[in-house]
Order: sequence, then structure tokens, then C-alpha cells
Amino acid sequence: MIDLRSDTVTQPCSGMRTAMANAEVGDDVYGEDPTVNRLEALAADMTGMEAGLFCSSGTQSNLLALMSHCARGDEYIVGQQAHTYRYEAGGAAVLGSIQPQPLELEPDGTLDLGKVEGAVKPDDFHFAKTRLLCLENTQGGKVLPMAYIEDAEAFAREKGLKFHLDGARIFNAAVKLNITAKEITTRFDSVSVCLSKGLGAPVGSVLCAGRSLIEEARRWRKMLGGGMRQAGILAAAGIYALENNIERLEQDHDNAARLEKGLAGIDQLVIAPAPVRTNMVFVRVKSRDSELADFMEQKGIIIEKGDDLRLVTHLNVSSRDIDTVIAAFKEFYK
Ligand SMILES: *Cc1c(COP(=O)(O)O)cnc(C)c1O
Repeated sequence: MIDLRSDTVTQPCSGMRTAMANAEVGDDVYGEDPTVNRLEALAADMTGMEAGLFCSSGTQSNLLALMSHCARGDEYIVGQQAHTYRYEAGGAAVLGSIQPQPLELEPDGTLDLGKVEGAVKPDDFHFAKTRLLCLENTQGGKVLPMAYIEDAEAFAREKGLKFHLDGARIFNAAVKLNITAKEITTRFDSVSVCLSKGLGAPVGSVLCAGRSLIEEARRWRKMLGGGMRQAGILAAAGIYALENNIERLEQDHDNAARLEKGLAGIDQLVIAPAPVRTNMVFVRVKSRDSELADFMEQKGIIIEKGDDLRLVTHLNVSSRDIDTVIAAFKEFYK
């Protein structure tokens, strides 16, 4: 099946499975898993940070960052559609007693800094203490402009705010801009990187930041039940992903562009514009949307049901698969 629902559906390849099977392991709660230690050091190096912390998921990694930057009664400013606000089950509020201040994202995935400034609370006991600004890159598959990130960093420094990046797909952004990830991430105080999206690992994210923040996060991770033991079996997949699956993200971007081009001629589809697109194509379906997913399934293609489709390319989708998908859409709407 050609599964376009998400890049989380990727299957670990045989090289990755071999690396997992052969991983040297120890008890990571004692700090004795050499493979976890190697993954954390590698991720920290690639993001230009002092230290890394292997987490069970991106949700956990982002939550640890929020809880380490913010205390009870503090506030973080975040996009209304950002994962760290909308898709993490309210964890910052529930488990961290941190108040979110969501703001509408701009069409390019940025937060307007004028609006952010208006949302920063005065130092007055009526208000929560605004502590953190949180961005996401890529956001909905869109790459944030570097000039914007520089402005946002300067803004955060001027306002005395900490600056976190949900970099679940940061390597998609870096590959698209043809720069290293650290050229983006060193602008921030912390970054969460997913290994289990387009990089193809079965499990895991790494939080990277300064050493003291990571030590704080390690305590919260233990409290949240995220202290894992012989986790090197999982970390080995992460190392394999970082060493082998970054450059090939370009193929996913090419395939998304190929898909966009192929679908563009179909009148019943409206493709959302994206200034800098990576591995996602968002499509509004104008007619017969209720029959579309079932038709596709008969053709060996899995998409979500509904009239607002997110089509995601990843390492288990080839350019020939894209041609199959385009042909199926054309057949359905002929
Ligand atoms: C997937 C994702 C995460 C983390 O999700 P998990 O499923 O918890 O690993 C965080 N942010 C963004 C933007 C994501 O797409």
C-alpha cells in the first residue's frame, strides 16, 4: 500500500533493524547505555547544542522543554495551530501548570512579532509571567524564512524570553534550504527533533539544549515515566536515521512537488499554496470527497477521509508511487 497519511508510517529498513539488533546497551537511567549516550551526543552536535536527551516521543520532548523553561504560573506564546499547543493534549497546562497564549499563525507558518509583542504580559501580579516563545519548523510542511528566525531571536532576547523550537521536521527545513540544521537551531535555547517522522526510526525524539536545561528535563522525564532502561535498541535506530536518512529527504520534497504538479490540473481539487514546500501537499476536495478514500484504497493508496487532505511523502513512497497516485486521482475525477 502507498500510505500518504503521514511520514510517521515509515517502516524501519533492514539496515536500521540490524543496527538495532546489534546495539550495545546498558541501563540508561544509570546513564550507562552507550548507544543512548552516542545518540544524544550526535543529536546535540548536529543541532549545535551542549547536550541531548532521548525521549519517547516528540510530545514528551516538547513537554519536557516547556516544563524546564517555565515554572507553575508562567506562560508560553505559541501558534494556535502549533503542535505544542493544539496536538499535545494540553500537557503543558495539565502537567506543567503553564498557561498557553496561542496566537493565529500567518500563512507562511510564522508568528507575527507585532502580535507576539502585544501578547507579552506586563510585569504585574494580575498576569501570568510570559516566559517562552515557541516556534515550529517546518510548520505544516512550510519552512520558516531564516530572516524571520533571526528577527524572532532578536525579539525574544530583547524581551527576555526563552526561545524553543519544535523541530519535529527540522531536517526537512535544513535540506530544503541547503544548510545544516544547526544554522537554524543555534538561534534557539532548545530544540525538539523527531526521529520517527521522515527520518524513519520506529520511536523517539531528542531534546537538545544547554547542559543545565537538559539536566532539568532529565528530572521531569523520570517523573513522567520516561526513564528507559536498555533503550539503546531504540537509540540505535535513531543514530542510523541521523546518519543515513537526512540527505534523502530531498527525494520526498521532489516527490511532493511532483504530486502537486500532477494534481494541479484536476478541477475538483484546490491545492493550498506554500511558499517553501517540503514533504506535504494540502488539498481541498471540492466534490465526491466521501467516496474518494474508498476508491483510493482499492487502488492500494491510503489517504485520510474528508475534504481536507494532507498528503505526505516519505521514504516508503517512490516517484513511481507518486505517478500511481496522480493516475488514481485522475481516474476518479475523469
Ligand atoms: C509529530 C510531531 C510532534 C511530536 O509528535 P509525537 O507523535 O509525540 O512524536 C511534534 N511536533 C510536530 C510539528 C509534529 O509533527
